[in-house]
Amino acid sequence: MQTHPMQTQLQHMQALPALSLNQRLDRLKALSKAIKENKQGIIDAISSDYGHRASSETLLAEVLVNLEDIKHTIKHLPRWVKANKWTADWKFWPSRCAIIPEAKGVVGIMAPWNYPFNLVTGPLTAAIAAGNRVMIKPSEVTPNTAQLIQSLMADIFPEDEVTVILGDVAVADEFSRLAFDHLLFTGSTRVGKIIMRNAAENLTPVTLELGGKSPVLIDRDYSLDKAAKSIAKGKWFNAGQTCIAPDYVLIEANRIAPLIKALKKHTISAYPSMTGSNDDYSCVVNTQHFERLQGLLKQLPKEQIIELYPDPQNHTNRMAPVIVNNPDKQQELMQEEIFGPILPIVAVQDLDDAIDYINQGDKPLTLYLFSNRRTTIRQVRQLTSSGSLAVNETLVHFAQQRLPFGGIGASGMGSYHGHQGFITMSHMKSVYYQSRLNGNDLVRAPFTKLKKKIINWMS
Ligand code: NAD
Repeated sequence: MQTHPMQTQLQHMQALPALSLNQRLDRLKALSKAIKENKQGIIDAISSDYGHRASSETLLAEVLVNLEDIKHTIKHLPRWVKANKWTADWKFWPSRCAIIPEAKGVVGIMAPWNYPFNLVTGPLTAAIAAGNRVMIKPSEVTPNTAQLIQSLMADIFPEDEVTVILGDVAVADEFSRLAFDHLLFTGSTRVGKIIMRNAAENLTPVTLELGGKSPVLIDRDYSLDKAAKSIAKGKWFNAGQTCIAPDYVLIEANRIAPLIKALKKHTISAYPSMTGSNDDYSCVVNTQHFERLQGLLKQLPKEQIIELYPDPQNHTNRMAPVIVNNPDKQQELMQEEIFGPILPIVAVQDLDDAIDYINQGDKPLTLYLFSNRRTTIRQVRQLTSSGSLAVNETLVHFAQQRLPFGGIGASGMGSYHGHQGFITMSHMKSVYYQSRLNGNDLVRAPFTKLKKKIINWMS
């Protein structure tokens, strides 16, 4: 059987040593420099893939977040790589133990299209910090960004340190079957299952950064104005195409009308118009996704749909924000991740009812809670399970370097960002150093009377 070129490249990289601390720091500095120097190129590539992507969104989510992550990693890496050493338990004294982080080998990174640059360079930062070599498969849905990633990486890294593979879903499938030492996949839950099956053939450990429906719960006396301001920001950013975008809102029925009013106010204030001249609002990534979203709306009764822009001017995949008033749970809209600018608001009776509603679904990537009451916050924290819980603000928890980012259950497994990324991409090797004076002889066969006494005494 002929060996695939990707396979040959992987084997070649696996035969090479891990990157030294100095190499890692050099490469991370070069990556940071390249991102700074190519800001406009990144903005343009993503925007051409999307038809239009707000340049400020790209700067915030694909440039700034990455630069901060790299800066944090460079600052702390010399400490992270250090072995953790101690003297063994007294029975083995004076032997010593250590946990030494070592590179796993070659890491595969598979990225989606919604933040096509960030979701390559974020995992890459962690993988390089841990000393790994890396093979990257960017999304085929954003080909201009994929090309840019390939050429930037070729400028920064020798090919045997980082290789970028371009191609369609068939190539992605092949890629996920390679015998990587670790595979970090970001994408949908559906494809995540395929990736995990493929990786299982080689016992490749996986980190799965998946999606799902991230609910928002608004406490009975929390300011609707404040909640709406934060939800409007988090939901319409990148036209709702964010893994941690608020998917739907749970609130008491009598607060739905004032919430819609407040959402309208904050939406119009953020995006006064939906015409082509408004640079701040992004398009849906392509016609297929635009039609999928329109299809979700077509299944709903007209009276439930609230267009926030009277003349929505949906064209060339620009889709204006839409609110859906209390849809039925059985609607497709409430069954799948929306991943677009549609915000359902669902009536609940009280906090317990809201918690039940959340717990009947898959474990979300993020649960948003708007509340100023400690008891409510504690109750929601203890009675629900989600990748993360964000209280009184949307999206920004992603940018906290000290918070691991990842899902649970259907929203993913494993996590990264900051130190957690370094740990995920490292093998924490246990090392035991036997001292010259070896007390273990006291418990070695033959078990004489004296040895038996000692063992009895210790047990
Ligand atoms: P996707 O699952 O369709 O694609 C992701 C990657 O998988 C792409 O690189 C693609 O080439 C590859 N792929 C697609 N089909 C494949 C197959 N059959 N076999 C092997 N590989 C395949 O996801 P998407 O549409 O690009 O991205 C949207 C999803 O990603 C959403 O569910 C979103 O919530 C999730 N997401 C999660 C995070 C996170 O950090 N948890 C971040 C962004 C997006």
